[in-house]
Amino acid sequence: MKHNREYEIAWQGLKTGIHTIQYDINDKFMLDREVDEGFKDWNVRVILTFDKKTNFFLLHFDIDGNVTVPCDRCGDDFRMQLWDEFDLVMKLAGEDVEEIEDDDEVVFIPRGETVIDISPWLFEFVMLSVPLQRIHPDNPDGTSGCNPKALQLLNKLSEPGDEAPKNDLWKGLEALKQKSNKRKTK
Ligand SMILES: [Zn+2]
Repeated sequence: MKHNREYEIAWQGLKTGIHTIQYDINDKFMLDREVDEGFKDWNVRVILTFDKKTNFFLLHFDIDGNVTVPCDRCGDDFRMQLWDEFDLVMKLAGEDVEEIEDDDEVVFIPRGETVIDISPWLFEFVMLSVPLQRIHPDNPDGTSGCNPKALQLLNKLSEPGDEAPKNDLWKGLEALKQKSNKRKTK
């Protein structure tokens, strides 16, 4: 991966205390890091609060923005709002830190490393801020915001009566599989 100074924090030069850094994340940043999920037009602002303590750093990522994603139900693209926050603790290797709570995500930084590249976490947290279920929000009148033609088709497919042949097919396949397994064991 490319070396990018924009996302490096030279922690040794920082005073102890809180530092706030803003990152504007776009397609260039996200697509360079191999996203292959059909997400595009990334427009995300990440505010990183970097709290430098003596032997460790507390990082808080505030994510706010939007991205175009394909709808899980109808397949059409729509604009999805992103909003999330993440905490991360960075600890200098070889130091004991009592203040850290068990459920915090802790990363170890070798002492000799004078700069920390934040880009892998930016990428990870922005990806994690995309909800697992991505479906068109409803219209203001309460109807589905999905493509009406796709919805009609989906409704037809899910009508009862269509399921029975599918089940029979599965049973047939299972029977076949068992037969061939028996043959193998002989
Ligand atoms: Zn949809």
